[in-house]
Amino acid sequence: MAYGIGYAGAEAEYDEADVVIYGVPYDHTACFKAGAREAPWTIRRASYNFEEIHFEHGIHQDLPAVYDYGNCDDFVLPEDMIAEVDFAVGPGIRDGKFPIVIGGEHSANIPVVRNFGKDDIALISIDAHLDSRDEYLGTPNSHACICRRAADHLGLENVFVIGARAIGEEELDRDDPVSFISSYEVMDIGIDKAIQKALESVKNERIYLTLDIDGIDPAFAPGTGTPEPFGLMPMDVKKVINAVGDRLAGFDVCEVCPPADPSGITSILAARYINEVIAVVGKNLRRRSYPSGCRRTRWPSPPPLRHRRTRHRPLSRGRYRTA
Ligand code: MN
Ligand code: MN
Repeated sequence: MAYGIGYAGAEAEYDEADVVIYGVPYDHTACFKAGAREAPWTIRRASYNFEEIHFEHGIHQDLPAVYDYGNCDDFVLPEDMIAEVDFAVGPGIRDGKFPIVIGGEHSANIPVVRNFGKDDIALISIDAHLDSRDEYLGTPNSHACICRRAADHLGLENVFVIGARAIGEEELDRDDPVSFISSYEVMDIGIDKAIQKALESVKNERIYLTLDIDGIDPAFAPGTGTPEPFGLMPMDVKKVINAVGDRLAGFDVCEVCPPADPSGITSILAARYINEVIAVVGKNLRRRSYPSGCRRTRWPSPPPLRHRRTRHRPLSRGRYRTA
């Protein structure tokens, strides 16, 4: 059962929505610091920090219609969380909505990927970890196994990790390791070439992007369950989202751990990435709505900016859900 404010600007009804936001407040397989279950609330709250316009894209945040589903119920066993996510997110994916999932820990990604057809998407994961173990601490649905579960469904050739730097021996010493580019190599060759490598590595056209916030350096994203030094820069991840562009099929951001995030900066960063994804979806919708051959050199003007910088929706208008 979820309660509280909806994501800023998520004012559409389900039927008209292009994008649907789901919270998965689950953290029962966390292996170091727990608390990621609180992130759907803190990230929604952080979403009210931002301007409604992305000046660098010339795009208004309102362009895609966004519906906030609220949160899935919380369970202890990962299998129960998976059944709940299937129930909540599955219909949206089958209805052609663009899903944005707010974890919770990274295991929330497992059912989301499986709700796409196996030929529909490739998974690009931004993560300090390879998450490629067959099982961890007794469960195959641990947050340390998400890439292996995605490979089971999509094929190993459709999984790629950017920013890995904490990799178990048993993850490399096997016949079928998950492909990755380490944060050290990203630092050497630059994020643009790293993205190119990722996009060339995977076979399926559409890309589902999963962001484990620990992929970013803990100096910028300290509020996470298993922080790992020597990570990606915040701008690197923004560039990945933009480079995937019209191939993007869905997005989740996981592993923000609010109890380890006293300043709230990690939730702020997570919400900003969600906004970036919404902007990219908006650009794709706009591109599709103009026939080829009549390319506009100027984007249509956004709606006039209102005076309020943020939109604090009164609690009474919040999206209360009971399940
Ligand atoms: Mn990780
Ligand atoms: Mn992970």
